Amino acid sequence: MSNVEAEPAEVRCQVAVDGVRPTQGPRVDVLTPRDVPLGGPRAMSVRRTLPQRARTLIGAWCFADHYGPDDVAETGGMDVAPHPHTGLQTVSWLFSGEIEHRDSLGSHAYVRPGELNLMTGGHGISHSEVSTPRTTVLHGVQLWVALPGEHRHTERDFQHYVPEPVWIDGAEIRVFLGSLAGASSPVRTFTPLLGAEIVLQPHTTVTLAVDPGFEHGVLVDHGNVRLADVDLRPAELAYVHPGTGTLTLVNASAEPARTVLIGGTPFEEEIVMWWNFIGRSHDDIVRARTDWEKNSDRFGAVEGYPGNRLPAPALPNAIIASRRNPPRH
Ligand code: MN
Repeated sequence: MSNVEAEPAEVRCQVAVDGVRPTQGPRVDVLTPRDVPLGGPRAMSVRRTLPQRARTLIGAWCFADHYGPDDVAETGGMDVAPHPHTGLQTVSWLFSGEIEHRDSLGSHAYVRPGELNLMTGGHGISHSEVSTPRTTVLHGVQLWVALPGEHRHTERDFQHYVPEPVWIDGAEIRVFLGSLAGASSPVRTFTPLLGAEIVLQPHTTVTLAVDPGFEHGVLVDHGNVRLADVDLRPAELAYVHPGTGTLTLVNASAEPARTVLIGGTPFEEEIVMWWNFIGRSHDDIVRARTDWEKNSDRFGAVEGYPGNRLPAPALPNAIIASRRNPPRH
């Protein structure tokens, strides 16, 4: 996915946050989403919860877009022309529909529900993402992971993994990165990470052991979910501060509920994010943008996409500020 916000450097000022709700046990902040159009004539839009003013990262997770369920006959589906990435990995995870992925490694893959597709941008990659003609309903998440400084210029890569679901107490869990509930993903990450889909059956309470050194995020796709004593609405992202060894999720309703759980060790580096690039300085961003605009080998070429690649937006007039998480209390 490409970040097509018109003024991507400015969005962190447009955000509403519910703020800290006092809890017993884990400290939980609720991050509310904002709607962002993806562009194109009918402009499918996504609900973005990361980054925002109140929080840049959860572990190394630095970008969270949630979309659908969308009737593609109405939205036009997804059609993102070739665009570059640097300094990050993209995680595509679908609940419904199918996306055709092509990248400058030569990967040609179909992103399908329950299957992890992890693309490492490293120094530079480009890719296109198009929902397929047989897709009627498109529904999923697109997440980005910031690469740590020592690996941010690593080689481009693409990995695919289909986790077997595990069941605990009425919760069906698919662990696509890291370890949870006795399941472990073999997919390599550059910082300790957790990523899992959790479907809660009606009237289910599940308590999961988690790494107390991690911070966590619980993104609610649909249904009513209580985390600690905080009621979460669909599309909200609950941030759980580090220091807790268990997470308890409750679905007290008569309908199933679905969440995506992310986590990782707090990412302490300051990063500079602009468009589809992550660097450490304004100059890193300018260099990446110039390399894309002059068609440098850095990002390679995508074969087979029927159309032109995306041009980079104009740089802002100001120096792009670095960002990090708010100080911990
Ligand atoms: Mn992308």
